[in-house]
Amino acid sequence: MKKRIIGILTNILATQDNPERIYVNRGYVTSITRAGAIPLLIPVLDDMQAIRQIIEEVDGLLFSGGQDIHPHYYKEAPGPGLGEVCLERDISEMEALYYAISLKKPLLGICRGMQLLNVGFGGTLIQDIPREVTTALEHRQTAKREEGTHEVEVVTGTRLHDIFGQKSVLTNSFHHQAVKEMAPGFIPTAYTADGVIEAMESTGNHCMWGVQWHPEAMAVSSPLMQKLFDAFIAEVS
Ligand code: MN
Repeated sequence: MKKRIIGILTNILATQDNPERIYVNRGYVTSITRAGAIPLLIPVLDDMQAIRQIIEEVDGLLFSGGQDIHPHYYKEAPGPGLGEVCLERDISEMEALYYAISLKKPLLGICRGMQLLNVGFGGTLIQDIPREVTTALEHRQTAKREEGTHEVEVVTGTRLHDIFGQKSVLTNSFHHQAVKEMAPGFIPTAYTADGVIEAMESTGNHCMWGVQWHPEAMAVSSPLMQKLFDAFIAEVS
């Protein structure tokens, strides 16, 4: 059987001393190849027709981590705790998201990717967890990326619970934003003890999953985290 092709939405790296680069952390690529599929990196583009043409060619999409989504997408002004935004990436990814939805392509959103999924479907975000969540846990760990830092409680009866087969999972955490109001058609599938939503999924038959942590960084040494990618590719096949 031919391998499935997963489009991975990428980021722009802008530094003072180098030209701009289009990139994605390697863990996204290796998690997809380990699951038996072919990763195809999709650059940030301003040609919407080109984006739609690429989306038609892939079997599923992975929305990766990165900058904050501009709050105008959920009808808020930028708050004091808003981080770096990248409007051209927002525009490019929203087009990819809406077109992929229209074609019912399976979607996996990681960190910013989960937030994009929520905002794209009409949900809102906490712009800065330390400012807006009293007694919040530390969600921006300083430990290595592959190491877990906080436990998430997985909601029973969800697809995520089926995949992990356990109620408590140790995950890494590199975010300062989170889902505030969940988009219609989605349910939270994991929480940390401070009430922050750490994962979500569609309640319909279109496979759309989001996780707030970075399973792609843990999967190199965590068979449990690799299960998420394996299950996603199984949905795509
Ligand atoms: Mn977290």
